[in-house]
Amino acid sequence: MKITDVRVLMFSLLIPPERRHRTDLGQAVKAEAAVVEVQTDEGLSGIGPAFGPPPVIRAIVETELKDLVVGRDPCAVEDLWERMYAGSRADLSREAGYSFPRVHRRGETIAAMSGIDVACWDLAGQAAGMPVARLLGGGGHDRLPGYASGGWRPADRIGEEVKGFAGQGFRAVKMRVWGEHGFTLQEAISRIEAARAALGESVDLMVDAHGALGLPEATALAERIAPCRIRWFEEPVSPDDHAGYRHLRARTTIPLAAGENEVTRYPFVSLLADGGLDILQPDVAVVGGLTEARRIAILAHAHHRLFTPHVWHSGLIVAASLQLAAAVPNCPIFEVPMSRNPLIWELMTPAFQISDGWISVPEGPGLGVSLAPDAERRFPYIPGPMYA
Ligand SMILES: [Mg+2]
Repeated sequence: MKITDVRVLMFSLLIPPERRHRTDLGQAVKAEAAVVEVQTDEGLSGIGPAFGPPPVIRAIVETELKDLVVGRDPCAVEDLWERMYAGSRADLSREAGYSFPRVHRRGETIAAMSGIDVACWDLAGQAAGMPVARLLGGGGHDRLPGYASGGWRPADRIGEEVKGFAGQGFRAVKMRVWGEHGFTLQEAISRIEAARAALGESVDLMVDAHGALGLPEATALAERIAPCRIRWFEEPVSPDDHAGYRHLRARTTIPLAAGENEVTRYPFVSLLADGGLDILQPDVAVVGGLTEARRIAILAHAHHRLFTPHVWHSGLIVAASLQLAAAVPNCPIFEVPMSRNPLIWELMTPAFQISDGWISVPEGPGLGVSLAPDAERRFPYIPGPMYA
């Protein structure tokens, strides 16, 4: 089987004005998704997610990456990854035994590579007639315990929100440190205490600061919420502040989680060496695809750390992450977005099965999902930024 073409499909959807909530990221005016499709000479095609502005992803695929993979075997994912990462220096890298990355070795280039990489895994699974999880040596788990990822409401209504998630069967809930009404330290403490009180002791509670706190306030918050039995504190400080993770880790007993903004395995190597992270959370559409995310899962396991991929933005990210999470030995729980965004829940078919807090791993060959037949009509691309 040989790759004959690579194209990028662009989807988006305007958020109606009455549902445009404000968060620390700004006011979201639209959702969007880039899907990379890899076509072959055997009639099979694979799809993979790339997180970034879709026209930018398309330009990178067309001008930089496509020519590196056309004519090659899509099942040779490791070789393709090195060819895309090292570009014109791929053969030199192979001779040396380590990568000489291309100039653009972070950001949207690696996101675009992620889409191609996942699409090739999808093809390899289809060619083998088995789900990617089995191709990766997994297959012992047909469903994973999910955690409900949401929690934006103020202190007087967060209890009702998180109890609603527990009522759907979730045994763990993640809430945001910045709520609908912004952030103050006292407000965050009140919201987290209210959530814990509403959940009782039998449901786990995680908190996520989206990397938006300074080290002093993150440290103060960790100290004040420790009695709330927090399963993990996610992105307490900026993803650029790896020293901050190390400092905070020495000052709290709450496990620290991060990684959705990291690109390639290399930042995880230093985060692990520094001892600042307990739970590694790469995003398969950002970090370098399933090939790279699997390396990070193994790296985490070797350091006695957990792996729980970041899952948001599109149903194709859900599908790819599920296949990997089901195959690795250190992913005890899976993020289930409580967003109603149709690009997460209606872009792919068949629909994801979520029951009593568990999410099923699609059983079909490859990723086990395809684009919904009406996806291009329902979610045409609209130019412009996601946040106002
Ligand atoms: Mg997060």
